[in-house]
Amino acid sequence: VAAGGRVGGVPEGHLIHHHARRHRAGLVGAERISSPQRRFPAHRVTGRLVDVDAHGKHLAHRWSDGAVVHVHLGKQGVLLDGPSPPPEPMPQVRMRVEGPALYTDLIAPMVCEVLDEDGWEAVRATLGPDPLREDADVDRVLAALVATSSPIGVALMDQAILAGVGNALRADVLNLVDVHPATPSDRLDEGRRRRLWDELVALMRTAAEAGAIPHTVYRQERCPRCGTPVQTGDVGGRTAYWCPLHQPPPDA
Ligand SMILES: [Zn+2]
Repeated sequence: VAAGGRVGGVPEGHLIHHHARRHRAGLVGAERISSPQRRFPAHRVTGRLVDVDAHGKHLAHRWSDGAVVHVHLGKQGVLLDGPSPPPEPMPQVRMRVEGPALYTDLIAPMVCEVLDEDGWEAVRATLGPDPLREDADVDRVLAALVATSSPIGVALMDQAILAGVGNALRADVLNLVDVHPATPSDRLDEGRRRRLWDELVALMRTAAEAGAIPHTVYRQERCPRCGTPVQTGDVGGRTAYWCPLHQPPPDA
């Protein structure tokens, strides 16, 4: 019932939005929240689940008593969604929410805390626009990308510039727009930056729907567009993947 396994890395924004959609559809109305592991103060949350929000890699459950439960999965965390009624919980379940149609078990998150609306807004204030949110301010992202000479592969993963992109999404979207990940961000012209945003929105929407990214070059042998072997290298401390034909390195 988990939404796709993963090999290392923090789940990216598409997966958080994938869970958020399922929770909106099947978990809203839930009145039962518990912590089988006892490491989350579930007794502080009362009433019923009224809404689910997501921004980048952050998930929020809004409850009728004003509590906002903020979750960030981090590297180890996982959400297991399944049809109600749930089985006996595993002892390592940090938080279980049981709704009319769906339950979710949260295991090993980096963050699982009770905030209020102001607290959730404070979390969101640290984040750049999220390509999967209707309220995303594209001009703010494009301005931030032209204001930095960091490699575009680094800028894309800076959650303060835009929220939700990790190592896989950066690799695949840069292949789609024919940009090498080491290209200085401020060297992309206006048209290319706008196309990068548009492709990212489309890719993340598809991935959020499916719960998985349709990879082009991330952890792939060959570029699916031309068959050239994919190259790898370090960009910003993470392994980058690119097609040497479609994405030539920037001029020195
Ligand atoms: Zn190629």
